Amino acid sequence: MDELDVWRTLPVKQQPNWPDPAELTAARDRLAALPPLVTAPEIRVLTERLGSVARGEAFLLQGGDCAETFAANTADKIRDKVKTLLQMAVVLTYGASVPVVKVARIAGQYAKPRSADIEASTGLPSYRGDAVNDIAATAVARRPDPGRLVDAYHASAVALNLVRSFATGGFADLSKVHEWNKTFVRDSAAGRRYEIMATDIERALSFMAACGIDLERTSNLHGVELFTSHEALLLDYERALTRTEDATGAVYDVSAHMLWIGERTRDLDGAHVDLMSRVGNPIGCKVGPNASPDDVLALVDRLDPEHIPGRFTVITRMGAGRVREVLPAIVEKVNSAGHPVVWSCDPMHGNTRDVNGVKTRHFDDVLDEVFGFFEVHRSLGTHPGGVHIELTGDNVTECLGGGEQIGEADLAGRYETACDPRLNTGQALELAFLVAERLQQGSPRLAPTGDRQVGR
Ligand code: PEP
Ligand code: MN
Repeated sequence: MDELDVWRTLPVKQQPNWPDPAELTAARDRLAALPPLVTAPEIRVLTERLGSVARGEAFLLQGGDCAETFAANTADKIRDKVKTLLQMAVVLTYGASVPVVKVARIAGQYAKPRSADIEASTGLPSYRGDAVNDIAATAVARRPDPGRLVDAYHASAVALNLVRSFATGGFADLSKVHEWNKTFVRDSAAGRRYEIMATDIERALSFMAACGIDLERTSNLHGVELFTSHEALLLDYERALTRTEDATGAVYDVSAHMLWIGERTRDLDGAHVDLMSRVGNPIGCKVGPNASPDDVLALVDRLDPEHIPGRFTVITRMGAGRVREVLPAIVEKVNSAGHPVVWSCDPMHGNTRDVNGVKTRHFDDVLDEVFGFFEVHRSLGTHPGGVHIELTGDNVTECLGGGEQIGEADLAGRYETACDPRLNTGQALELAFLVAERLQQGSPRLAPTGDRQVGR
């Protein structure tokens, strides 16, 4: 058997009950014949960039929707999400004088793990993301359809095409820093703070130009490196897009630059860990408060046996109330084993709450978990390497609090997510400013040196 198919012999969680095996085989064959979405050299560049995060020389910003949908795969929504990430990144880069590695949850985040196969409220199969079924609450819509795996590939290709153009085609030029600020954010406290910072950046650019520095030819100022990522959940999809590079014999999952394994599918002897252990991409793994230090070390040993900086990102999602208590022992264990991992904080998934049947999160909890994460790493002398955020470029009202003080009564206003509640642009920007402050107070290796590349 091809070693890339060993996962098929192992316990596998969270796969849809596809009703027709022949349809699934046809979809897999179709996917296997389609071109890669990303290439091996790009994937290796991301590993290198994450390697610098692991060494404490850069910061990882990972963010995007909880669940992308085909309906929301529009020019406006993609542009606005990219703008939000660019804004956050520039706030972090400028505010903390640190290179920021930008990884979007985009162009492939179409599959969701669910707590139950059957949705209690409707008796229908649960919605598992647009790559599997439709969110509408009818039996026909909820039937898992393998044709959607192919649709997800094409939707990803369309999104990625635009993302690539935005990243390098002038849109992300630093001279456009004001234009990334959306009108609905401009009047908020975070929006105003951003305007001031953007004006400072423009002034700095004019100053450099006046000094005779050729900004036109400084490519870092005119585009950004923006990488893609999604949860590696549907293994038929990921396997069909796993390819061997002719020149090197190296194996990569070419559906995205970075893949992560979810909290619910990270079993050491399970299928997800097996398949991801055999691909060369940077791999992340979500780790919740029930993971023991030994569990996490076993995962790191399995997924990063060669101790490659940037290969493995531990994405902790402990909840604001638990992070200070459970994170230290995990960090110490992995660290003392000598693994050069990236430590990233997902302050969303441990802080979900129910308000009258509506899933939400409070900005204060999100912030508190990020601060707890920083405190733990500072006290251990390790690098708080990054954040992993669910966000949108829209003015939604899905998470409580923040500068605009979204209250429980506001949740009904613009609650649009297909799965988990996301920070809106104002909340995301506010978070970026607060993280930048923490980062700046940080480790000596990240102190401004004046000679470091802008790192955009
Ligand atoms: C997610 O990132 O949307 C997710 C399901 O997270 P976790 O695996 O941490 O629960
Ligand atoms: Mn989510």
